[in-house]
Amino acid sequence: MTSESDTTRASRNPPRAPCSRVVALLADYLEQRLSRQQHTELTRHLDDCRSCLAQLQTYRSTVSLLRSIREEDLPPDLRQTLSDFLDRTAPN
Ligand SMILES: [Zn+2]
Repeated sequence: MTSESDTTRASRNPPRAPCSRVVALLADYLEQRLSRQQHTELTRHLDDCRSCLAQLQTYRSTVSLLRSIREEDLPPDLRQTLSDFLDRTAPN
């Protein structure tokens, strides 16, 4: 009965959220604004997706950096780099 085992496997391993969805939720994740379900979905994805985990760590350190300094203290080229980074990660 192959169909029976397929069903069992499918319910044990629901499809993983796509990376684009996870990246779009990173900001809310860091602000702890996700629902419990979204949070579970995200952490499960991050458990076995290195690229999203790396994104999260970069994002997290950038956010805390931005909070700890004033923008006018930044050298112009670094300010540009940060603004490019935030543009890239903003969902649109
Ligand atoms: Zn991913």
